[in-house]
Amino acid sequence: MIVLKTSRELAVMREAGRISAMALKVAGEAVEPGVSTWEIDRVARKYIESQGAVPSFLGYGGFPASACISVNNVVIHGIPSKRQIVKAGDIVSIDIGAMFEGFHGDNAYTFPCGDIAPQAQRLLDATRESLYEGIKQAKAGNRLGDIGSTVQRYVEARGYSVVRDFVGHGVGAKLHEDPSVPNYGTPGRGVRLLPGMTIAIEPMVNQGGYEVQVQKDGWTTVTRDGKLSAHFEHTVAITPDGPVILTKPE
Ligand code: MG
Repeated sequence: MIVLKTSRELAVMREAGRISAMALKVAGEAVEPGVSTWEIDRVARKYIESQGAVPSFLGYGGFPASACISVNNVVIHGIPSKRQIVKAGDIVSIDIGAMFEGFHGDNAYTFPCGDIAPQAQRLLDATRESLYEGIKQAKAGNRLGDIGSTVQRYVEARGYSVVRDFVGHGVGAKLHEDPSVPNYGTPGRGVRLLPGMTIAIEPMVNQGGYEVQVQKDGWTTVTRDGKLSAHFEHTVAITPDGPVILTKPE
């Protein structure tokens, strides 16, 4: 069931989104050679709690941290660890959600650590741009397939692939709500978008093939071919005036 939000609820979600976005920003600023992914997670958690919010991911399905931190060939759901030290040349995907007054924000960004290879930078640029192209399609009257097909076309035209096994989602009082928001699809197909819907659009883009594999810990999801993967996400509201990004830093 898709829950439409009232304007009052959207105002709360905007604040949850701001907190999520700022937590992502400070986490990104902590990315530098020699830092552990555990330390990056702690920075994010501290910020969220300083705002009177709760990290959405902490304990969700048993997830042990506030942020998912996924380095290089890890696509999503990387578990922060004191033993994992990031180094120059790595790409570091950070996914963070915050719950404020009963509503969630959810966003992700892949940060370069120091200088990265040009082909890694191209992957980051293409993935980030594909998200914004997808967001442009998130308007009332369009369908989910318009978002997914736009992301897919943008990414595949640049020689990359979109992950199939994981998709975006509705977001609101629950972190994951209906509908599913795939990063692939057919224009004009799927659920029709209505004002009051709030969705997380989150392209996960692989340098090589789209196949992924979940490791034994039950979380860490890697590319099957070992190549790089990037992840960018915003929480977006469908409004009569077009798409509104809720996960904006102040
Ligand atoms: Mg999400």
